[in-house]
Amino acid sequence: MRRLLVASALALSAAAVAVPAMAKEAAAVAPADAPPPRLVVAVSVDQFSADLFAQYRQFYTQGLARLLQGAVFPSAFQSHAATETCPGHSTLLTGAHPSRNGIIANNWFNLSLPRADKRVYCAEDESDPASTSRDPVVSAVHLKVPTLGELMKQANPASRNVAVSAKDRAVMMMGGNKIDAAYWWKGASFTTLKGRTLSPAVEAQNAVIAKQLKAGFPALPLPAWCGAADRSIAVGKGAVGQGRFAMPKDAPEKARGDMFRISPRMDAATVDLANRLVDEMKLGQGAASDVLSVSLSATDYIGHGTGSEGAEMCIQMAQLDAALGKLLAHLDKRKIDYAVVLSADHGGLDLPERLEQQALPRAVRVDDALSPGPLAKAVFARTGITVDKGPLLASDGGDVWVSPALAPDQRAKVIDTVVQIARAHPQVVAVFTAADLAATPSPTGNPQDWTLKERARASFHPGRSGDLVILLDRAITPIPEPIAGMYVATHGSAFDYDRRVPLLFWRKGLTRFEQPAPVETVDIAPTLAALLRLKVADGQFDGRCLDIDGGAGNTCAAK
Ligand SMILES: [Zn+2]
Repeated sequence: MRRLLVASALALSAAAVAVPAMAKEAAAVAPADAPPPRLVVAVSVDQFSADLFAQYRQFYTQGLARLLQGAVFPSAFQSHAATETCPGHSTLLTGAHPSRNGIIANNWFNLSLPRADKRVYCAEDESDPASTSRDPVVSAVHLKVPTLGELMKQANPASRNVAVSAKDRAVMMMGGNKIDAAYWWKGASFTTLKGRTLSPAVEAQNAVIAKQLKAGFPALPLPAWCGAADRSIAVGKGAVGQGRFAMPKDAPEKARGDMFRISPRMDAATVDLANRLVDEMKLGQGAASDVLSVSLSATDYIGHGTGSEGAEMCIQMAQLDAALGKLLAHLDKRKIDYAVVLSADHGGLDLPERLEQQALPRAVRVDDALSPGPLAKAVFARTGITVDKGPLLASDGGDVWVSPALAPDQRAKVIDTVVQIARAHPQVVAVFTAADLAATPSPTGNPQDWTLKERARASFHPGRSGDLVILLDRAITPIPEPIAGMYVATHGSAFDYDRRVPLLFWRKGLTRFEQPAPVETVDIAPTLAALLRLKVADGQFDGRCLDIDGGAGNTCAAK
């Protein structure tokens, strides 16, 4: 901005006629003066790491190429330690870290829960007797702060808040409790909240998918730029690296839904559904601005099934670009004034078996001694206190819970013993107790520089988090026994390969720029709130508004 002023001053002294033209042009495009967009399209690409973005951005020609013409932040942070899908999606449109929004992990344990299943899924309502952690009654009841869509509805009830994804937790964390339409994949079709019916648009999309599932589908093309990624890597009892996502006509019936889900076709179907909902609900064409959240899950499913450096991910990057192109083209065709934000819920890491060949020999799989069962045995050997896996000692991600049924001194002894065992393990980089984290101030400032304890603090919510959290060291993959095609690689660590994601904003008329300095995904909600002229209470957001216009206009000061 300062540079522009200097340039204007120079222009004024050199050639006075240049100034009015320049000022006029700036005024014509300055989004600060443009009315709020009629539709906010919030796209999450599940497991789209900053590393994947950096590796493939040169090849995008469609939707992602368009977004590269907006405000580009290649180094945005999901700043917290528990880099899982539910916490990641919970930051995108709430502007709050998991420590405040309550979504500490995909699953946690509530050992006082009055049901046999003590595990709680982040997007379930466990007060419904029909709900279990593995077959949940889907809900956003655990999300403790409003989403952008809910804030918009609060300001103007005519605003619609719509979310679609392959994953229920992505839908609920981006949409929240007050959601007008919510659709996700279950088994072999899209479904919705308990007590609601599918709209005609969803029925139509499901019918198209049913036909595809019945007919099978051909291999997807390998882009020329995939090159050496197309080679076989042995893992578990199989191999990955050369998949093409074909489904033969004679594929087993019950495998078909998963074959569809773990493929680029899942994203294409999610986008098709989003486009149908735009038309059915006339999104962006109503009395108030609307928000459409689209979380594309295939990158994550493919990353888990086959890793991030094979032909499969290379194909997915091309197909993702095409799917996003279809989404934007549809909105253009409907002449909707929309703003897009695209980011991710977390990054990811390739599988150790390929990393070992690709100059990262330190990448290994986790030692089973750190699983709940062996940990419980080790605690018994040292203390004589029985702590079974399950109701007494349970862990998900890095959190460990110790039963409240133990006498207080025994409980303290168990916690202390687990801390000692974990700290002595060479694959563990840090262990923090709930008391450690509760005494740590919520971190601020550049997320790149946060200590491991500060990262853990940002996903610590008292009363919900474990009694302690165990952080694995860099490049330790917490999958002891990989299954090729289903689960060989993952995310969830406190390191930057899982924390760093791209953040892209696009709206017609923005002056393009790239800002390499770190920003946070909690900056998205305040940035969009400013575009929408949404009045929010002080302290609503943990993030800050980003001025997404690279020109003289300031979208954070929009009047
Ligand atoms: Zn995810």
